[in-house]
Amino acid sequence: MLVILHPNTDESSDEFKKTWHHLSSLLGIKLNKHDIQGDKQKLTEIYLLGDTHTVNKEEIESLPAVERVIRISEEYRILGRHKDNQRTFGFDYNGVHFDQKGLNVFAGLCAVDNPEHVELTLRALQENNQQCTRMGAYKPRTNPYSFQGHGEACLPYVFELAGKYGIKVIAMEITHESHIDEIHRCLEACGNPTGVLLQVGTRNIQNFELLKSIGRQKTYPVLLKRGFGITLNESLNAAEYLASEGNSNVIFCLRGMKSEFGLPHRNLVDFCHVPVIKRLTRMPVCIDPSHSVGTRDVAPDGLMDVMHATAQGVIAGANMVLVDFHPVPSKALVDGPQALLLEELPLFLEDVQIAHSAYQKRCALISQ
Ligand code: PEP
Ligand code: MN
Repeated sequence: MLVILHPNTDESSDEFKKTWHHLSSLLGIKLNKHDIQGDKQKLTEIYLLGDTHTVNKEEIESLPAVERVIRISEEYRILGRHKDNQRTFGFDYNGVHFDQKGLNVFAGLCAVDNPEHVELTLRALQENNQQCTRMGAYKPRTNPYSFQGHGEACLPYVFELAGKYGIKVIAMEITHESHIDEIHRCLEACGNPTGVLLQVGTRNIQNFELLKSIGRQKTYPVLLKRGFGITLNESLNAAEYLASEGNSNVIFCLRGMKSEFGLPHRNLVDFCHVPVIKRLTRMPVCIDPSHSVGTRDVAPDGLMDVMHATAQGVIAGANMVLVDFHPVPSKALVDGPQALLLEELPLFLEDVQIAHSAYQKRCALISQ
């Protein structure tokens, strides 16, 4: 059962205290409180966990701080919509807002290789008014002898350069819970010049202990990538692991499915699921056209497949684009063949804007 409080309820108010006291006295029920920062107001939701069949809905609704009570289905308890379109969701992190309406582009290096490439990339982002990027330090590789990422060693220059070029959020994959501490310590030591969105890769989506440890901290939001060989339901349940531990600032990323049917693309592009995830959950939806398509192939119309795939996701309402760029793809240590060139950044961003405006026009059309 979900108890939604009146917007902007102050926790030191009598209304809140009376409501919390009553809910805490319900036998066999545990409380789990989540604060959600929407566009205009703060919402507080309290989840009643346990056997709620005997809990009287009307009685809870009459408590002073309570606006509404919803009986929720078992699936995606915290992140799900539960047929309630009034529930808003969104969060701010380091000055950047994430929700199911906006759009943030995270262009950058698949893997950090050296300070020069990091600086060239970040400078190009700043010149193009970007405040987010992707930078892989910990790389999960198929082959144990392949480059595994520079790990902790590269964090100081990545964070300092990000600060220098006005980058507010870096999407960075982690593969072990100890990486959260490494990132945290380094950010503190550098004076927090930037922020980090912790990325969980497709291969780790069912690493439940990793998900639980990431979910137990609320400092960093999470970008969770869909499992490339499991059902959507299984991937959404993985997202719920993060929320069930306390961190519901989760963005869900589509990155293509492993299938021979996707050939000649690296994966079968699954961006038609953007609206499905928005319908089932309240998570902002990210698309990763680079890992989906995996090449720089160009269609006869002159547009790269990566740009076509991006447009397909954005015109369907994607809220974030995670995309590989590299100053010299031939020298990239990971995924060079799919990286776009820094000179292509303005074109790419304009193409994204065209698709985003088209999405907004489509929404306006339907709301007339
Ligand atoms: C990545 O984004 O660098 C990555 C490894 O992606 P995925 O987990 O989707 O393969
Ligand atoms: Mn990659």
